Amino acid sequence: MKKKRIWDRMFIAFVVMSSILALTACGGTSSKAGENEETGKLKITTTTGMIADAAKEVGGEHVEVTGLMGPGVDPHLYKASQGDIKKLEQADLILYNGLHLEGKMSDILLNLGKSKTVTQVTKDIPESELLMVPYGDKEEADPHVWFDVTKWIQVTDTIRDSLTQADPEHAKDYNDQADAYIAKLQDLHEEVSERITSIPKASRVLVTAHDAFGYFGQAYDIEVLGLQGISTSAEYGVNDVSELRDFLVDNQIKAVFVESSISPKAMEAIVAGAKEKGHTVTIGGQLYSDAMGQEGTEEGTYIGMVKHNTKVIVDALK
Ligand SMILES: [Zn+2]
Repeated sequence: MKKKRIWDRMFIAFVVMSSILALTACGGTSSKAGENEETGKLKITTTTGMIADAAKEVGGEHVEVTGLMGPGVDPHLYKASQGDIKKLEQADLILYNGLHLEGKMSDILLNLGKSKTVTQVTKDIPESELLMVPYGDKEEADPHVWFDVTKWIQVTDTIRDSLTQADPEHAKDYNDQADAYIAKLQDLHEEVSERITSIPKASRVLVTAHDAFGYFGQAYDIEVLGLQGISTSAEYGVNDVSELRDFLVDNQIKAVFVESSISPKAMEAIVAGAKEKGHTVTIGGQLYSDAMGQEGTEEGTYIGMVKHNTKVIVDALK
């Protein structure tokens, strides 16, 4: 009997100890709202690499940024994996492009918006500055705003505001870092403008796989033709291919361009078609349209990507 009582006491002591440990553990995980418990940094998850890059520039050492869409990824067709959903759920702040760019993620983003801050980085661009384009059987705003550097400056402002709201303690740093980045973007805008207008007007035609460069054309005075509509989820038809081929032949266009996030097959077919009609068109090079280059390379940043595109276009058309 005595032995049993000792075991009972030991069991009670064990239960009490376990409860204390559990309580301590719970207390340990609580942290300040808006900051990550391990690093003290604001955890940001973005959809595209371009947004991730801007968030890193503005956030500096106070943020930990995860971009879901890597090099070569097409955002129009991108579906969030289980791993992505986890990264979105763990974020303090989610930044996305919107304007239907992330067409297959809209439900997830809408849902997450109920429980955390989800910011559409294009929301402060005045509606009158958005290009309206056919989308299915109606008109929608063209989502590819990053190709007009002045619009990306507006996006950077929005990202700064969003970071400041999520983490007001570091408002001054976010403001200073945004200003420094915007100064670089202003230089970039002028550089692109100068270089593109150095191409003779008659040759200033940019033919690409899909209509990603509408804002680029508008901002830098170059005509833009895309084989596929604004979203790559729309199929192109035989008529589009032959129309574009005839346009190249009739206007003696020297080069067309392929994109890093889209298969080059259609463009290769057009080049072959033009050749049959006696006009030589070359593939002028690969442009980064909806995704940046490899991390760690120059093209793996927004500024490097825009510079790369400008160089490829100028070298092929001038
Ligand atoms: Zn696109």
